[in-house]
Amino acid sequence: MRACGNWRDRGPNAGPTLGSRASLVPNDASPDLVAKFILVRYALSRIGLRGVALQSQIRTAVKLFSAEELLGFNPVIEPPANDLPYQCDCGLKNQRGRTFCKQCRRRLEIKSRYRVWMGALAGTYVSGRCGILFGLAIRTFLSGYL
Ligand SMILES: [Zn+2]
Repeated sequence: MRACGNWRDRGPNAGPTLGSRASLVPNDASPDLVAKFILVRYALSRIGLRGVALQSQIRTAVKLFSAEELLGFNPVIEPPANDLPYQCDCGLKNQRGRTFCKQCRRRLEIKSRYRVWMGALAGTYVSGRCGILFGLAIRTFLSGYL
């Protein structure tokens, strides 16, 4: 038996489904994980699935974070951050401004402003298409650039 088969092979008790009331988004989800759920929600909408329970859970989760936590910077008050490190090879996502990993002391690679801005723009746009406010609305995001 395969460890990870097609979802159709798992049977009716395989876990939460998109239509169930079971929580798909963990209560302690990080901003990055919430962003990944938004991508899933967007993909579902593109193939014609509604995912109402998932939508509700994402909206609840996203409210726990500020725009800076979700986007890496606050587009209303500052330019794209130039001090956001990539996740360390050890798996730790270090805080903004760190140049060495808090856990393993490796030097961290810093994201370019362009990459930070593109990620924030894409996250804001996709979440907006799903009807989810990801820190701020796309119009507000772009207002500083137009
Ligand atoms: Zn590390």
